[in-house]
Amino acid sequence: MQLLIKNVSKTYSNSVEALKNVSLDIGNGMFGLLGPNGAGKSTLMRTIAGLQELDKGSITVGSIDVVKDKQELRKILGYLPQEFGLYPKVNALELFDHLAVMKGIANKKERIELAESLLSQTNLWKYRNRKLGTFSGGMKQRFGIAQALIGNPKLIIVDEPTAGLDPTERNRFHNLLSEIGENVIVILSTHIVEDVSDLCSNMAIIKEGEVKIIGEPIALIKDLTKQVWMGFVDKKDFKNISETHQVISSKLSTGKVQIRVLSDSEPITGFTEVQPEIEDLYFATINDLDTESNK
Ligand code: ADP
Repeated sequence: MQLLIKNVSKTYSNSVEALKNVSLDIGNGMFGLLGPNGAGKSTLMRTIAGLQELDKGSITVGSIDVVKDKQELRKILGYLPQEFGLYPKVNALELFDHLAVMKGIANKKERIELAESLLSQTNLWKYRNRKLGTFSGGMKQRFGIAQALIGNPKLIIVDEPTAGLDPTERNRFHNLLSEIGENVIVILSTHIVEDVSDLCSNMAIIKEGEVKIIGEPIALIKDLTKQVWMGFVDKKDFKNISETHQVISSKLSTGKVQIRVLSDSEPITGFTEVQPEIEDLYFATINDLDTESNK
């Protein structure tokens, strides 16, 4: 199955251009959509899920036109929105059952088998009788994934799934996502670089409604080989350096500023060339530095 997004634009009534001529061609497997807050990720996710109209362009999944054929889309779609509302007083099994009915699974026995299978897969079966209001952030997200998998979806959209999870919960969530399989399209929207580096075989970086880069993370990082340098500078010199060099990122470290710089040769005496990482690609892209892929 192929998801084809062609020249999609969306401007909200407050004149914010949330999507500007976005085109993406996404096949089976895990696709990471990475971008800072406000980049347009949720707008794109909601539009692909058929929950929001686009102004221009087209979106198709296989032979389904997302704009015209919402009914058909719903049959193959699993969607975990950014804000997944749970009814705090209802228990997990009850809500799961309700959502399965909504998805068109009329047979009660079938629903119970499905609940056992998906809630076990997400490690929640033992908590099935607990009220959702007592679930931790990680448990809620796992429930969100369980419900998104109802009906064997061919297109799964997860919007910012790990925001607010602690490292253990995030790890567990990553393992769960990676088990979903290679035969469906999974789009993971996130502002967390590790979500993409850990999980995705293809990715795009979006900023201010525009797709800046598309490709395989490994190949994209390779383009930065021999261009990323790391070193320490004094705090007082940092401002000047950031104006005269292509600083990718900086952080305080033992009273000095540790910086990573994009450069074809040693940018500052004593700096060492380091292996590029996805984070370098991400910051170089969203800070509009002159990388090979940006030229
Ligand atoms: P992201 O998911 O990457 O954080 P969003 O798609 O939520 O980005 O938002 C993209 C831009 O559109 C932001 O500037 C945001 O403020 C704006 N926006 C999002 N939803 C609406 C809305 N319903 N009405 C007006 N502006 C919106």
